[in-house]
Amino acid sequence: MKTRNRSEQSLKIVDCKICLEKMPLDKLGIHTRRHKMTSQQYYEVFIDKRKLCLVCNKETNYKNIVFGFNDFCSKSCRMKYQIINHPTFLSIAIKSRSSHKRTENEKNSARKTLAKLKQDPEF
Ligand SMILES: [Zn+2]
Ligand SMILES: [Zn+2]
Repeated sequence: MKTRNRSEQSLKIVDCKICLEKMPLDKLGIHTRRHKMTSQQYYEVFIDKRKLCLVCNKETNYKNIVFGFNDFCSKSCRMKYQIINHPTFLSIAIKSRSSHKRTENEKNSARKTLAKLKQDPEF
C-alpha cells in the first residue's frame, strides 16, 4: 500500500505544466480550473493515464491530483485483491474479531473459508 508518503507528496512543489507556475501538488488540483481543466483531466494528460481495476479491469474512480485513480473499482474488488495477495489477511481479520478467545477451531475454519474462496471460479 502506498500510504506512507501521502502528506509528503501533497506538499511536493511542482510546476504547472501549462503556465509553469510553481506550487504544492495539492494546490495544483485547484489551480487547473484556471486553465478550464478539472484536476482529473490534467492528471490524465500530464501525470498518468487512467488506471483500471487490478481485479476486474473496470475503470476506477479518480480521487485527486495527489493520489490519482483508485486501484480498485469497488470495495469488494479491494477485498478480493487483499485476500488473493495476502492469504493471511482473512485469518487476521477473523482472529482480530475474536482476539479475546482464540481457539484452534476458529483458525481451522478461517483456513477452510479461504480455501473455499480460492476455489470459487468467480474469484
Ligand atoms: Zn497553470
Ligand atoms: Zn473491480
